[in-house]
Amino acid sequence: MILIMFGAPGVGKGSQAKILSEALRIPHISTGDIFRENVANRTELGRLVKVHMDNGLLVPDEMTIGLIMDRIYNADCKSGFILDGFPRTLSQVEHLGRSLKAEKRSIDTVVNITLDDAKIIGRLTGRRVCPSCNLVYHLAYNKPHNVGRCNKCSSNLVQRVDDTESTIVRRLQVYHAQTKPVLSYCRDRYVVVDVVSEDDIDDTTRNIFRSLGLAAIGTSDEGSQYMRLSNGCA
Ligand code: ADP
Ligand code: ZN
Repeated sequence: MILIMFGAPGVGKGSQAKILSEALRIPHISTGDIFRENVANRTELGRLVKVHMDNGLLVPDEMTIGLIMDRIYNADCKSGFILDGFPRTLSQVEHLGRSLKAEKRSIDTVVNITLDDAKIIGRLTGRRVCPSCNLVYHLAYNKPHNVGRCNKCSSNLVQRVDDTESTIVRRLQVYHAQTKPVLSYCRDRYVVVDVVSEDDIDDTTRNIFRSLGLAAIGTSDEGSQYMRLSNGCA
């Protein structure tokens, strides 16, 4: 299954992509995570993308498209993958469509997660992230068990440099101007499901599973199990 998690910054694309990735056992590919990793490891790519990210602007397509095209040809993407934060421009979605078509594959579903801009600002200013394992928390909606510490690896949580109010406003402008047209493009060509981002992460997950025609059937150590519902609704 090839899924695209779509939506403005702060709607919870990444959190939901992680859950789906475990349930469906297909890789979660986040351009933001890949870029932040490169910045943290001081690679050449990291040096080039940092200024764009810190200012809330998109990283140029030349640095983004090739990276993702290479990644989705990895063997682990054979039975599908989940893209989070890509495509964000018309050129990106066109390239992706062409590359997949050359392999007789296609995007199965675009999950469009929606939330008002006013609520997005609250979500992003309260967001805290684990710099080691990339888990995402929120001061009100998704608190860590111990204040300021990651549940999984106990690292000190940090605020992303681009989660300040002025940069958030810029990122929302960029989303409306450059990324939103990707949604209309997808509506004409692929299956798009619209899901409201609820304050409760589990509620949003349930809605996404339902719109994808998937029902959770309990959890195991290796991650959630799922099954596809024959009639497509739970
Ligand atoms: P969010 O969705 O919260 O804005 P991401 O982690 O997806 O955060 O992205 C962080 C930053 O990384 C973006 O503001 C942008 O600078 C860069 N970025 C991520 N994905 C892309 C992309 N597909 N094209 C261009 N820039 C990107
Ligand atoms: Zn952690």
